[in-house]
Amino acid sequence: MEKRELVIIGAGPAGMTAAIYGRRSGLDVLLLEKGATGGQINVTEEIENWPGVQHSTGPDLGKMFREHALKFDTEIRTADAKKVELRGDKKIVVTDKGEIEAEAIIVATGAHFRRLGCEGEAERIGQGVSFCAVCDGAFFEDEEVAVVGGGNTAVEEGVYLTKFASKVYIIHRRDEFRADRAAIERALSNPKVVPVWNTVVERIEGDGMVENLVLKNVKTGEISNLKVPGVFMFVGQTPDDDCVRGLVDAVKGGWIKVNENMETSVEGIFAAGDVCDKHLRQVITAASDGAIAAMGASAYINEQLHLRTTLLEPESVTAFFYSSIDEKQVRLSTAVESAAKAKGVKIPLIDGYRNARMTEKLNLSARLPVMVELRKGEVARTETVTSEADISKFLG
Ligand SMILES: Cc1cc2nc3c(=O)[nH]c(=O)nc-3n(C[C@H](O)[C@H](O)[C@H](O)COP(=O)(O)OP(=O)(O)OC[C@H]3O[C@@H](n4cnc5c(N)ncnc54)[C@H](O)[C@@H]3O)c2cc1C
Repeated sequence: MEKRELVIIGAGPAGMTAAIYGRRSGLDVLLLEKGATGGQINVTEEIENWPGVQHSTGPDLGKMFREHALKFDTEIRTADAKKVELRGDKKIVVTDKGEIEAEAIIVATGAHFRRLGCEGEAERIGQGVSFCAVCDGAFFEDEEVAVVGGGNTAVEEGVYLTKFASKVYIIHRRDEFRADRAAIERALSNPKVVPVWNTVVERIEGDGMVENLVLKNVKTGEISNLKVPGVFMFVGQTPDDDCVRGLVDAVKGGWIKVNENMETSVEGIFAAGDVCDKHLRQVITAASDGAIAAMGASAYINEQLHLRTTLLEPESVTAFFYSSIDEKQVRLSTAVESAAKAKGVKIPLIDGYRNARMTEKLNLSARLPVMVELRKGEVARTETVTSEADISKFLG
């Protein structure tokens, strides 16, 4: 089976930044992408909040990210990562082009916009129902269109649509938008934007193509019709977490839980970008996550290598396994260090909390804090220790 140090799934801003950082820290990096590199920015024409670049189209910025990753010799492969599996202590990425064993994995698979779910929507996707203003806006030159939603994307994309449409109705179920103030001001000061407050879309009608939206005022219950040939849905996002669903911990909706080092609940698997549980889903936060995840992966890979060479390969080694989140155990680790110094021997101190898989592999998880003698990687002797006296007794 193909073996790689770092496999990154998804070549959006998070994945490509992770690749740049991974390659610059000397890792062998394989970047998998099932579609076009660039991710979601491929469908936006306006990027004005990437520092140092006052204006770019999404595809142009995506191209710059790709060229940057390639400059550091990242291998970018077109492949769909179907599943990440743990087989023993191995991490395997199962793709439509074969399996890859990875020392560490970064999941940077992003997110996509959610459907509204009303009657008549599913069968008219691409026939007037759209999730991308940049892709489809130009089809509605001088026509009236509707946008559904009230967050930043709905408001910004609504304004963008005024480049083509003669009028843009923004249908929102509340009586004010949830977008940032600048975006709201831009929308409300645009004479082509018409907010439709306290309203939901009940049904989309039309003979094949969209012709009419049946609307309901949630305050009065009043039903009305809005005759438009196009409706753009911006009602939230769903994470593209399929390949690790059920494997790593996630919050409601599937957004992957990560700590400040972008580590998931599974050792050696990191996540970055929009697929994570986070407040701000933007290019800059995705890139930041990617950088942190790559540095974390690099540290993890080096640590695994260090563990292998210090614990598993020597003829004989005595080590101390403890948990760094237990103060008493941390104090004992200092005592072990002093005892080793006094005896003139080397005793590796292994944080069993951070190195859970190695600790589990040696069957020590339930025994921390524990002194261990290993011979050629096999546990020869163990003793759970609670005091300096226990440590001295073990060392003889
Ligand atoms: C219309 C629109 C306008 C936006 N405007 C802005 C803006 O102006 N400024 C800003 O900062 N942000 C903007 N954003 C948000 C920004 O695009 C995202 O926050 C950012 O792209 C997230 O990056 P990511 O790498 O986490 O995920 P994504 O960009 O979603 O990239 C994920 C990549 O992973 C790939 N992938 C998914 N699953 C797999 C798999 N199983 N195997 C292989 N590959 C896989 C996908 O094909 C995709 O290329 C906009 C988004 C949209 C949709």
